[in-house]
Amino acid sequence: MKITMIGTGYVGLVSGACFADVGNTVLCLDVDSRKIDMLNAGEIPIHEPGLDTLVARNAAAGRLLFTTDYNRAVAHADIIFLAVGTPPDEDGSADLRHILAAARSIGERMEKQLVVVDKSTVPVGTADSVRDTIAAELKKRGKNVPFAVVSNPEFLKEGAAIEDFMRPDRIVVGSDDAHATKMMRQLYAPFGRNHEKLIEMDVRSAELTKYAANAMLATRISFMNELANLAEVLGADIESVRMGIGSDPRIGPHFLYAGMGYGGSCFPKDVKALLKTSRDHKQSLKLLEAIENVNEAQKNILFGKISRHFGGDAALRGKTVALWGLSFKPNTDDMREAPSLVLISQLLAAGCKVRAYDPVASNEARRQLIGSLGEEAFARDVTLCDSAWDAVEDADALALVTEWKEFRSPDFERLAGALRGRAIFDGRNLYDPALVMEAGLTYHGIGRPGHN
Ligand code: NAD
Repeated sequence: MKITMIGTGYVGLVSGACFADVGNTVLCLDVDSRKIDMLNAGEIPIHEPGLDTLVARNAAAGRLLFTTDYNRAVAHADIIFLAVGTPPDEDGSADLRHILAAARSIGERMEKQLVVVDKSTVPVGTADSVRDTIAAELKKRGKNVPFAVVSNPEFLKEGAAIEDFMRPDRIVVGSDDAHATKMMRQLYAPFGRNHEKLIEMDVRSAELTKYAANAMLATRISFMNELANLAEVLGADIESVRMGIGSDPRIGPHFLYAGMGYGGSCFPKDVKALLKTSRDHKQSLKLLEAIENVNEAQKNILFGKISRHFGGDAALRGKTVALWGLSFKPNTDDMREAPSLVLISQLLAAGCKVRAYDPVASNEARRQLIGSLGEEAFARDVTLCDSAWDAVEDADALALVTEWKEFRSPDFERLAGALRGRAIFDGRNLYDPALVMEAGLTYHGIGRPGHN
């Protein structure tokens, strides 16, 4: 099939490359010419394991192409995917500016029958708006070209995106059009080898399914974070509780990790957008409101522990805190809504200096931190280091923020020698408190007994 992917970010580039890998010809379009220039030069603008070889293989075979030219992109396709960003608006709703701009660009140019597929995460009713926008452009041009708008939300996880796309748990297709449904079945057949994975439904249900999935995952995280805080005052260990409940198949082991609150490009904005939708329809989601509130509070948890350890915010002035990990989770360079950014801003506000190391996200972190702090404050207060050991050099304490593999088993004796304040704040409960303490360090986890 001939596919056009509008939006060549984390979702568009991965989906486009995977569709190409099974034999389709995919043209990826983006309005960001820097990204397209990089891709045409054989460079990958984001960090995603395995993406470089996948893109190179399919580009070399002529099945994966990149452009900024909408005329070419619309003329190319039988199916057009919308994979543009849907960031949060000021009131929490999903900002549909990019989706509707892309829909207009399609309507202004289409000459032949098309299936338009919403892959971006969009509120219920957006497929109708996309349909109306395209129809209005066609009408302006006096054209009557048949088209359908389908909802096909994406469930891939950054860091494991290719595996998720190639071997999905499920493929949700919301469609009210028989021809479009048939095309979608055909397109996705290689990714399921049987149709059991493809769950067909109406468009509105498909749009809501994506928000429901992310809201459920956010619920598990906030539930465990709240329970962790209780465990801590009770002298229980949330890690033991996690294993104790996760072995129940009705609960399952995933997404039960206490930590510093959920971040990333999806959960925070999707929870906000679903809350806004519920308020707009006077059907408030009280549970989800609480989940968001718990998460906001949890983002402060590590800073609170650091401050208490040193004897209050005033005592933090002049201290240096090392951070291991900056990206919102391992195996990605995505810094959107990363808990590290909250911690860094709190530390700097208390007069600390920060020395941070991340295996891949330093460039993106530098860009974001300079944006929020300004060049001068960034240069004065933040050092981005080339290695984990460089970061702890002359630091008073270490905060483990992202559970990258290379941080899993450090030499604690060496850490005890390097850290002036001999304290570890484990924001991901990655370490065995007993091992850390044996090395003469103080251990502070999330929802685990306090240790000196
Ligand atoms: P992204 O910011 O990485 O990529 C979006 C791209 O769209 C950008 O490159 C941007 O330049 C481009 N764009 C914006 N307006 C455009 C236009 N009018 N025409 C063409 N290109 C345009 O975003 P992402 O992380 O890939 O997310 C895309 C969508 O997928 C969002 O709705 C997101 O919620 C959803 N989603 C993301 C993930 C994820 O893990 N990142 C997972 C599932 C779903």
